[in-house]
Amino acid sequence: MIVVMKTGSSQEEIKRVIARIEVGGLKAQISQGIVQTVIGVLGKPFPELRDALELLPGVEQVIPVSKPYKLASREFHPQDTVVKLNGVTIGDKGIIVMAGPCAVESEKQIFSTARAVKAAGATVLRGGAFKPRTSPYQFRGLGEDGLALLAQAGKENQMPVITEVMAPEHVDLVAKYANILQIGTRNMQNFILLDEVGKTNKPILLKRGLSSNIQEWLLAAEYILNQGNEQVILCERGIRTFENYTRNTMDVSAIPIVEKVSHLPVIADPSHGTGKWYLVLPLALAAVAAGADGLLIEVHPNPDQALADGPQSLTFDNFSLLMAQLLPIAEARNRTLATPSATTES
Ligand code: PEP
Ligand code: MN
Repeated sequence: MIVVMKTGSSQEEIKRVIARIEVGGLKAQISQGIVQTVIGVLGKPFPELRDALELLPGVEQVIPVSKPYKLASREFHPQDTVVKLNGVTIGDKGIIVMAGPCAVESEKQIFSTARAVKAAGATVLRGGAFKPRTSPYQFRGLGEDGLALLAQAGKENQMPVITEVMAPEHVDLVAKYANILQIGTRNMQNFILLDEVGKTNKPILLKRGLSSNIQEWLLAAEYILNQGNEQVILCERGIRTFENYTRNTMDVSAIPIVEKVSHLPVIADPSHGTGKWYLVLPLALAAVAAGADGLLIEVHPNPDQALADGPQSLTFDNFSLLMAQLLPIAEARNRTLATPSATTES
């Protein structure tokens, strides 16, 4: 249930609505729009509450929210959420491109990739240090050494950095180095981890679970929002279907659906979404044409020798080609490409 206040309602009136919600043992969450305030009722509202709230001064209407996710819904928060990261905005007019290797492998690899993707127009540097691998015998990342290298490469190139956090007990460590925390597809429903990252003040990139529907994905976002962290970025990265020509099936339709039902920014990861480097460019363009706020792209100096996800990684040249082709698509959607930031502090 959400309470829509009248335009110009006073702080006193807002406080009275919150008090009435809390008296019933429920939680109130305010969304302050430019013209109107909306108050979300969290918990299971009892039937009389709607009438009681409707009678309070300053209340325009009380709307039952049919969807199980509330804080993530557009009804609760009609205007787009824009995630701000010192100089970089995500969910604004500029399409944000996050690029880098699947895994940080060495100083040379991450520094050369950072320089190349920055020169081609990427804004955020990516690189995994704690890697979720299907087999325990595969390269699982450099751990804290990888985090440190990623952070240094980001600093040198004035790029904020994003990396995955896999376990609740790693959140503090990863947050020490990263500007954005990534929740991987396999952990989308690790609810303890979602609670933990919800307690940080870092933006969270929440990948869609590989077998999760859109409602489950938005409920996972709800866990983070419910802890008070409002900076959630959704990421469509392909889902598992009967098709096995591609690694996953990139669900481009999820992008405009999420844009319709949620205020959270949504980006696309065509690297994991397809698993094949030559499909990354067309699907990146399709995602932006469909309304994505940004892209997450795997780039490697030498994909043939990558320790993780080589077949889906772009060379520096192919990444530059993608960036060049992206601009007209962004412009067709009345958008621009985000300009690189001047600072990496967070
Ligand atoms: C990654 O970004 O390298 C990754 C492991 O992604 P996903 O969780 O989408 O598989
Ligand atoms: Mn990867």
